Amino acid sequence: MKYDIVVVGGRVSGSIASLYASKNDMNVLMIEKHQEIGTPVQCAGGVSKSFLDTLEIKLSPDIICSKIKGAKLHSPQGDYFTSTNEILHGYILERKMLDKSLAMKSAEAGTDIMLKTHVKDLIINKGRVEGVIARNQGKLIEIPAQVVIGADGIESQIARIAQLNHGYEPIDLVSCAQYEMVGLDVESSMMEFFFGSKIAPGGYVWIFPKGEQRANVGVGVRNTEKAAIHYLEKFISRFNATKIELNVGAVPVCGPSNKTYGNGILITGDAAGQVDPITGGGIHLASICSKLAGEIAAEAIKNEDLSADYLQQYEQEWQQKISKNLERSFKYRQIFDKLNDQDLNKLIQFFNKNDVESLSTLSLWKLALGFPKLFKSLKNIL
Ligand SMILES: Cc1cc2nc3c(=O)[nH]c(=O)nc-3n(C[C@H](O)[C@H](O)[C@H](O)COP(=O)(O)OP(=O)(O)OC[C@H]3O[C@@H](n4cnc5c(N)ncnc54)[C@H](O)[C@@H]3O)c2cc1C
Repeated sequence: MKYDIVVVGGRVSGSIASLYASKNDMNVLMIEKHQEIGTPVQCAGGVSKSFLDTLEIKLSPDIICSKIKGAKLHSPQGDYFTSTNEILHGYILERKMLDKSLAMKSAEAGTDIMLKTHVKDLIINKGRVEGVIARNQGKLIEIPAQVVIGADGIESQIARIAQLNHGYEPIDLVSCAQYEMVGLDVESSMMEFFFGSKIAPGGYVWIFPKGEQRANVGVGVRNTEKAAIHYLEKFISRFNATKIELNVGAVPVCGPSNKTYGNGILITGDAAGQVDPITGGGIHLASICSKLAGEIAAEAIKNEDLSADYLQQYEQEWQQKISKNLERSFKYRQIFDKLNDQDLNKLIQFFNKNDVESLSTLSLWKLALGFPKLFKSLKNIL
């Protein structure tokens, strides 16, 4: 077995990186440690409207559970504000079907896929990554490759072995737990978010509708003694609905890794921390960055230059596309971190009373003047 490119991880980043590498005439292997692509799910499936344009792939209608036209934001004391701002428009996708469908597209483009195969190590020769060592059916196998792409998620072994790991602190991670539930009285085109230190310290609760009476109900918390599931159970006790699936996982919300390339190696998606720090959304960013990873790995091979110097193009390009937004989101998250329950109550009351649909600079200034505590932080953004 010998490949041009080995991609480790078979979900959104892995499938998109391998798809674009295969489309560029590379001989590609994608390796997934689970026995099925897309499970267990670790996602709520929410994406912005523009995701489908970025993807450049027509998705089967079954993957789109609902079209979103807005959101309700609930304050700790129980008020809520409804927004239909275009920024909130998007879709709730059936994530396991999305991942499987992307893997199928990649396979159709020529990618080989190995399931139930756990990559344990990298083959490294004189500081250059030259393949992977994986456990398959109880045996360790060496798979040489010209470039390895680590698309193996937040706990990326590949990033750690290649010394590209982020080194997350507990405060950098949101721990999440989510139930898919049926029998829920939800508006099928509105997401709901609930804030408050008792409901979700350091994070929020989400309800993402997946059609008639069906929704993902999840909670993300940061730096808490109790696990996310504790807060989730407490929250859902208000519903008379039935759980049909439990998902748990963590999301990095501290911005991307400092370095995402090396000699013969690239990392992408959650493995590279390419996640929006305020929403925790990673699907759209992963699809932008992993497409670049697949294309640039292919270019490097065609140009017979697998050096870190050449592959750093990947970092330059993804930074050009998403860094500004990530930096702004990170600032918003820092402001959010400073808000206590009283601030959140006041904020949602303010949103209710004022026309902030356009989120104009003027409305933000008005907000800042009403909240001296926020003034200093907002000044940095406006
Ligand atoms: C509860 C929750 C809800 C979320 N909701 C949303 C949302 O609504 N919208 C959104 O945009 N984002 C959401 N996210 C974030 C989003 O799920 C991630 O950003 C996205 O899945 C990243 O994709 P990825 O392919 O990079 O990594 P992953 O989805 O983590 O995939 C990595 C893959 O690599 C495999 N793997 C790992 N190690 C190895 C190994 N050594 N060998 C072989 N295979 C390996 C894993 O099995 C896995 O299949 C959510 C996250 C969580 C935890």
